[in-house]
Amino acid sequence: MIFDLEMIQRAYAAYSEKVEWIRKSVGKPLTLTEKILYSHLTEPALKAYERGKDYANFNPDRVAMQDATAQMALLQFMQAGKNRVAVPSTVHCDHLIQAKSGAKTDLTIANETNKEVYNFLSSVSNKYGIGFWKPGAGIIHQVVLENYAFPGGMMVGTDSHTVNAGGLGMVAIGVGGADAVDVMTGMPWELKFPKLIGVKLTGKMSGWTSAKDIILKVAGILTVKGGTGCILEYFGEGATTISCTGKGTICNMGAEIGATTSIFGYDQKMDDYLRGTDRKEVASMADKIMNELTGDTKVYENPETYFDQVIEIDLSQLEPHINGPFTPDLATPLSEFSVTVKKNGWPEKLEVGLIGSCTNSSYEDLTRAASIAEQAIEKNLSVKSEYTVTPGSEQVRYTAERDGLLNKFEKIGGVVLANACGPCIGQWARHGADKKEKNSIMTSFNRNFAKRNDGNPNTHAFVASPELTTAFAIAGSLSFNPVTDFLTNEKGEKVKLEEPKGIEMPPLGFEVKDAGYQAPAEDSSSVEIKVNPASDRLQLLEPFAPWNGEDLKGLRLLIKAKGKCTTDHISMAGPWLKYRGHLDNISDNLLIGAVNYFNDKTNKIKNFLNGDYREVPSVARAYKEKGIGTVIVGDENYGEGSSREHAAMEPRHLGVKVVLVRSFARIHETNLKKQGMLALSFVNKADYDKIREDDLIDIVGLTEFAPGKNLTVRLKHSDGSTEEFETAHSYNENQIDWFRAGSALNTIHKRQ
Ligand code: SF4
Repeated sequence: MIFDLEMIQRAYAAYSEKVEWIRKSVGKPLTLTEKILYSHLTEPALKAYERGKDYANFNPDRVAMQDATAQMALLQFMQAGKNRVAVPSTVHCDHLIQAKSGAKTDLTIANETNKEVYNFLSSVSNKYGIGFWKPGAGIIHQVVLENYAFPGGMMVGTDSHTVNAGGLGMVAIGVGGADAVDVMTGMPWELKFPKLIGVKLTGKMSGWTSAKDIILKVAGILTVKGGTGCILEYFGEGATTISCTGKGTICNMGAEIGATTSIFGYDQKMDDYLRGTDRKEVASMADKIMNELTGDTKVYENPETYFDQVIEIDLSQLEPHINGPFTPDLATPLSEFSVTVKKNGWPEKLEVGLIGSCTNSSYEDLTRAASIAEQAIEKNLSVKSEYTVTPGSEQVRYTAERDGLLNKFEKIGGVVLANACGPCIGQWARHGADKKEKNSIMTSFNRNFAKRNDGNPNTHAFVASPELTTAFAIAGSLSFNPVTDFLTNEKGEKVKLEEPKGIEMPPLGFEVKDAGYQAPAEDSSSVEIKVNPASDRLQLLEPFAPWNGEDLKGLRLLIKAKGKCTTDHISMAGPWLKYRGHLDNISDNLLIGAVNYFNDKTNKIKNFLNGDYREVPSVARAYKEKGIGTVIVGDENYGEGSSREHAAMEPRHLGVKVVLVRSFARIHETNLKKQGMLALSFVNKADYDKIREDDLIDIVGLTEFAPGKNLTVRLKHSDGSTEEFETAHSYNENQIDWFRAGSALNTIHKRQ
């Protein structure tokens, strides 16, 4: 048994009682989101909590990590000195496989290219009780839905589309590696209580309309920012008509509107899916408490009273949509698409149709697309565009092959790629993309920002359902509308595609020979973690040094960053991602995107050891070598953007002691604290102007460092004058311990 039955039994044993207690405490009916969130609050947080006021601490049930982000998360986890992870956790090798020739060859090449990363992830997983899904086993979110997600549960995952598990009634949230480490080490995990958007679904879909069109429509309504800080809860009789994997598709793309997550209440479709994926025990347990695995009736009867915003969609009226190009919220109904393409001058010829990804790679998705392929075969049509298929998991692939679906795709000219992310994350060796020609592609993926799929800024990527993408690939043109238009076949006859037909669950059941799962060792004492010291992709971490018990004196200013400084400015992505598992190498991107206040240039700061202007990382390394600590000064909302632990680890690694800003983005501030740094903010924001390029900086008051007590910054200017000002901090007692110990992980290690 791959899933964690005992953990789910424990979770369900306490769940109903907690929900009842909470309902009485708050004195009102509850949404499903509230039930799950409240029931996962830590004991102290539950007692102290008032909704909407602040951040709160939660105890999620499980963790999932994809291979790119798992590297640094696990390197950090190793620092905690734990023998095993505190909650069930898994690693999934899906992001590093490049799509080029087809599943078999691509997988062989990936196994060779990424050997050391895979060996590392496999051995760490084995040692610390983490389930390991090998390359080719499938895409993290599909594998989680098929094996681990459970109604009423809460999970975090180091990938933004972790939210996919909302399709099986779980509050599932994408986080940075540092947050995953918190949960795996048993520390409480912090989240700001989100606003709630209710999405009421009425009616029933038919014809070419599918679950994908619901989220494409919602994205059009809310836009890419409209879900920020919110959880979307779908309900209504329309919701119960959508398959569990269809619900997954809708929740998956909630990430594209910035939502914290999305969720559906437990229903018969979820029961069917749990039983169909070999989890009848979970279905039986969920059935017993089904009333608490959905929102209270009164909530759904009067949604305006209980949600911050309500959207209503009539599925009977919903048209298929095509969203894009360049942004997933540019929603166009199918009936208007051809005209819109012409009006905007988008390239009409469709070069490639790509189906699959974690968004749309279920058995149902493949059957709907295959029903179009089958018609094409019967009507003497084949694809005019290139056409690729990425199954979501080996279980889906094996079953689809057994049931003849993959054969249909191949017969019309499709290429089946490895069960992995591939083109969705730009792991696509697309022939000719380097010529940067203007062209159109259509995918059943989720994101379509410029350059995402093939690196070409002129590729117009459109997002649609797999069946619509398949129909467009057969037509080879964006001016086509399968509802109204005829195609000319190889015999010169006019033929028309009928509506797609899908099968939710395979009639013969799911089947797989080797799912690609490696269970962790029962006794892992002899398991060795393999990292080659000469590797440039992986490096074991050394614990950061503890505080020396004294005030910080004679620090140099590393950079005074001007204006916006996001985690991407602090630790850039792109080519640097290959060094995610190597702290020293990736530190060469530290703050290379930040603007130096003193010369308005990026990556050019003064090294006061020799007067030269050099790159930020090289100057930081020069100070570090001489044992000189440094300070980063920042502007408003410093560290906004994705929760990237590297943005806090790199400055720590290169000798930065203090980050002093006008204001912090909360998650980055916490990440700095976790790495044992001082995260301070100006009490008087105008004091930012007092910092000169050649100052020597002292931080005074650390021997009495206490919650709520300001620290003093003393500047020694080069003209001999000095200035002092107050800085505030938000450290609690626990976080002050992290500072003293050198990092949060050192604190945990000390307690072992
Ligand atoms: S398939 Fe695409 S969206 Fe899904 S996990 Fe992979 S890269 Fe992310």
